[in-house]
Amino acid sequence: MSDDVLSIIPTDAGWQPDRTAADRALVLVERLTPGVVDGVDVEIDMTWHDAVTAVDCGDNLQRIGCPLCRASIDTQWWGDLLEAHCDDGFATLATKTPCCGGATSLDALDYDWPCGFARFEIAVWNPERLWFDDAELAAVAEALGHAVRQVRARV
Ligand SMILES: [Zn+2]
Repeated sequence: MSDDVLSIIPTDAGWQPDRTAADRALVLVERLTPGVVDGVDVEIDMTWHDAVTAVDCGDNLQRIGCPLCRASIDTQWWGDLLEAHCDDGFATLATKTPCCGGATSLDALDYDWPCGFARFEIAVWNPERLWFDDAELAAVAEALGHAVRQVRARV
């Protein structure tokens, strides 16, 4: 059985909140999540990563577009990259694209569905709800003290 994970991450991959701000955001996310529905336990994890970590959308990934030449990037290239960095994270997001060899940031690739990079993450497991809307994200951002985005993974 697969899991549906809705994650909120800061828009800046290196940014981390302090404990107070993170707890404030967590309380809000809990309030925005219906809780136990149809006997499914909703679990919310809050993680501070030592290094910049990929927040991948798992099986929801359809396509990765190159921001430089607009070509599709082989998702296997991305899969290999995730595997190579799954333990130590990413010391840098600077990369050369496999399509045109251009220099860019991994964070700037056009992921469909969205993927991201972060050193802090609030992950809602099997949220029993759809994406957070703009107003909800803005409220979480205010609680956290930094703009946020969301990644929805099937794992
Ligand atoms: Zn390219």
